[in-house]
Amino acid sequence: MEAELLRQAALAGDILTRYERVVRAARSSASTLRFGRHTVAVSSIAQQFYCEKAVQLGIERPLAPTQEMRNGTTGHEAVAALGVPMTHEEAVSQALVEREMPLCIYEFRIGWQHNGVTVTGFVDEAWFRGGGVDLVAERKFSGSLGVYSTYHVQAGLYCLGLGQMGFDTSSTLYRINVFKRECYNCEKLASGDCTILSGETASYTCERGSCISQSFPFDREQVLNDLDWALQFWTGEREAQPATSEARCRACRYKRVCDSSRA
Ligand code: SF4
Repeated sequence: MEAELLRQAALAGDILTRYERVVRAARSSASTLRFGRHTVAVSSIAQQFYCEKAVQLGIERPLAPTQEMRNGTTGHEAVAALGVPMTHEEAVSQALVEREMPLCIYEFRIGWQHNGVTVTGFVDEAWFRGGGVDLVAERKFSGSLGVYSTYHVQAGLYCLGLGQMGFDTSSTLYRINVFKRECYNCEKLASGDCTILSGETASYTCERGSCISQSFPFDREQVLNDLDWALQFWTGEREAQPATSEARCRACRYKRVCDSSRA
């Protein structure tokens, strides 16, 4: 028992040291990335799979968030508030504890280096058991209940990042929960009582809104390929690629200023 506790403490120390070294080194050294960035956020990489031109324009000509975006943030925060507040050190140490049922840690902070670029993010939900990651869950609020490529990329990168930090992701699944926008201020969501949060049903509709939940195996090779492609933009190896579909341009807030717009 004591040997196990010592092993967990040593592993927690390794994980935290590696994380801090990577993030500190990136922030304190001269930027080699576009826009003077020192790190690249997982959420930005995911957006590249919708449209890289939009990512670029969002940095060069930032727009205030829409009401729909703000509502999505509110819904997101409502579920995250279900977690017990803890420091990063406490979260890493709890993630390594041997236990029968996995422990869900909300907004788990991650950071790792890939080909010299530091990637950072916050995992909506990471379910840990004895240093292994059973599940990564990602929540989205949207006008439609589809599971889009950007969602897969984002959740897959969270799985990859946890593995690169030192957790066991050999049998990790990721789950994507998509809620209709009107769900954002639902009391059942805020209290954790919405049926979809149990993970035992694929879809749920109530008098207010509806949502879906789908789980997928983590495909490390696919995620590495996606990451390699995305980082080529940040390191300046290639220019931003425009969206490939007219529908994306029609829905884009930059369609009037973008020189690649199909709308
Ligand atoms: S208009 Fe189309 S190509 Fe241009 S930024 Fe928007 S989605 Fe991308």
